[in-house]
Amino acid sequence: MDYSKLGGLVPAVIQDYLTREVLMVGFMNADAYARTQDTGYVTFYSRTRAQLWTKGETSGNRLAVISIATDCDEDTVLIQARREGDGNVCHTGERTCFSAGSKDPASISGSPAVTASEPRERATRTERGAGVPASERAGGPRGEAPGSNQEAL
Ligand SMILES: [Zn+2]
Repeated sequence: MDYSKLGGLVPAVIQDYLTREVLMVGFMNADAYARTQDTGYVTFYSRTRAQLWTKGETSGNRLAVISIATDCDEDTVLIQARREGDGNVCHTGERTCFSAGSKDPASISGSPAVTASEPRERATRTERGAGVPASERAGGPRGEAPGSNQEAL
């Protein structure tokens, strides 16, 4: 694990192992990561309290570790976890720390961010899709010409 980039910490993304919801994001230092592995419960390093903090130690809403993965350059942790207690991960009482801004799923799918990015993706795919055959078609005849030139040279 590479703790050097954030001064001894790595972000830990906590994901519900069943629903795949992102529940919360915290930070871990080497001790917190070790305790998470040893105890099987998500333990963060609290930056505000400057100490280890096992999620749910007071509320009972602990996060039981199902699996731990590190990302490609080993500076971020992804933990799939099972929610214990009342299952509400956020201290506000919401199920996830990201609930507040997205209570209506319908408004997300219709939001400008999504509709704006999708056509762009499709356009790129279409350009690529149309571009390849077009260049192949264009390259075919041209390819023969340089080929015959090269042969002539
Ligand atoms: Zn929260």
